[in-house]
Amino acid sequence: MSDRLRAAIRTVPDFPKPGIQFKDITPVLAHPDLLREAVDALVAPFLNLGITKVVGIESRGFILGAMMAERIGAGFVPVRKPGKLPAATIREQYALEYGADTIEMHEDALDAEELVLVHDDVIATGGTAAAACRLVERRGARLAGCAFLIELTFLNGRQHLPPALPLHVVVTV
Ligand code: AMP
Repeated sequence: MSDRLRAAIRTVPDFPKPGIQFKDITPVLAHPDLLREAVDALVAPFLNLGITKVVGIESRGFILGAMMAERIGAGFVPVRKPGKLPAATIREQYALEYGADTIEMHEDALDAEELVLVHDDVIATGGTAAAACRLVERRGARLAGCAFLIELTFLNGRQHLPPALPLHVVVTV
């Protein structure tokens, strides 16, 4: 666990709504050494495994996710909110505290023989990442694991991910 990364992550109270302690990674992104350290730490368990794609979740999962893909030597696949991807998509719903939300992936983004790492900046309730894993599995691709910069442990989001799946977290709060 990186104390430097932990210290750089900024907690913004009551954003985007009252009661949310928002974990802001922009100070990490802005600092060249911390940016490199974050990418190094995220990919460390997943080097030389033959991962072919990193799936990054909109929108903050795009930033480090694309850098992780480049570092691993894999391609990058965006998972997005509905209506953002231009070509044919597959979609998954997940439960929110009140209601449900949906994410989409291009249906031709993954082949069945691919090995995939799922990434987001934060795992909170885990619903989004679990839905992203289901999108990967629906294409017949294999999951190598999930990598998050920050886990909000009190929400126990990891309970929603496949139990045998390697789950890598750089900073727990
Ligand atoms: P989850 O509840 O795990 O499905 O998280 C939903 C999305 O919201 C993920 O993309 C997280 O990156 C983001 N998110 C949830 N809670 C926070 C938080 N406290 N600070 C920053 N991002 C968050």
